Amino acid sequence: PLVLGIESSCDETGVGIVRGTTLLANTVSSSMDEHVRFGGVIPEIASRAHLDALVPTLREALHTAGVTLEEVDALAVTTGPGLAGALMVGVCGAKALAVATGKPLYAVNHLVAHVGVGLLDDGVYEGELPPRLGALLVSGGHTEVLRVRNIAGDVELLGSTIDDAAGEAYDKVARLLGLGYPGGPVIDRLAREGNRKAIRFPRGLTQPKYMGTAEEPGPHRYDWSFSGLKTAVARCVEQFEAAGEPVPVADIAASFQEAVVDVITSKAILACREQGIQNLLLGGGVAANSRLRELTRQRCEEAGISLAVPRFSLCTDNGAMVAALAARVIMDGGEPSGLEVAPESSLPVTTVVAR
Ligand code: ATP
Ligand code: MG
Ligand code: FE
Repeated sequence: PLVLGIESSCDETGVGIVRGTTLLANTVSSSMDEHVRFGGVIPEIASRAHLDALVPTLREALHTAGVTLEEVDALAVTTGPGLAGALMVGVCGAKALAVATGKPLYAVNHLVAHVGVGLLDDGVYEGELPPRLGALLVSGGHTEVLRVRNIAGDVELLGSTIDDAAGEAYDKVARLLGLGYPGGPVIDRLAREGNRKAIRFPRGLTQPKYMGTAEEPGPHRYDWSFSGLKTAVARCVEQFEAAGEPVPVADIAASFQEAVVDVITSKAILACREQGIQNLLLGGGVAANSRLRELTRQRCEEAGISLAVPRFSLCTDNGAMVAALAARVIMDGGEPSGLEVAPESSLPVTTVVAR
């Protein structure tokens, strides 16, 4: 089927078009620049930017794909999780298109859609997802490890952050170090000049009372927490300042990054090993991080897990992933959503299509 997918859960307005598993267009407009002076995504600004960008992005995607709206078989949209006001713009836009064209609408889960890029022919799995698949999603809004038995309907959350997302921690720490926004790329670059063993920052939720054992898992065996890490970095900076010493920014950046990446990869791989996952897909904007890629690759290799990292434009938020997921749901005979479907900012991963 020819499917048009709309993404608007955070700061990217994306429209993607696929024919089955073939990618025809993936147009993305980001409002990132408008959030820079605030040091983080401002929901109200993101919503207004979606409103401005949706129609031009839609036009450009149709032009690139060389198709008309009339030719499209189905419409798809991210319905959650995400920022409520931002989701609202995409969902209302998609509903309007559905009403105007009479095409069926599929309101899909954003996190599951991140895995949907694996369905694309020119993606990492060339059209067919492998069995025993897991996904590690790391972005400004998410840090999750999922088990994907069937992308069209059987997805399970194994672990997630209980407070800040990893990308959020990067952004907050960068702000604290006076490095600007977004923090991820700057810290990544700076960390290369620093010593990652200079300071031992805490790895959240790794104490035995949270971890338990494989037989008797604790309450947060596969979960993460990054708020304590952010506080530890703040204290560290204060100590240097109080002592009148120069703050070793590069060492702090490298040590902070090591703490984040170490705990993300160790827990994700533990989850994979204990849950029989042999294929891991890495997604989200933080998948751009050089140390995360390196350590994930190294630890997957040691554990005999095959790792797939999609190209960056398919790792960050985009409409193609939404279209690809909906196309699979359609090929599996899944029912469309009703036109009364509403965005849900904390939609659980178990709901692949909201109806
Ligand atoms: P989502 O809805 O998926 O959470 P988002 O807009 O919050 O979307 P993305 O656009 O996927 O997230 O990614 C942006 C985040 O990725 C920012 O928090 C940014 O700091 C982080 N990031 C980008 N590049 C890097 C990098 N090289 N290292 C670490 N973090 C990075
Ligand atoms: Mg973004
Ligand atoms: Fe995302």
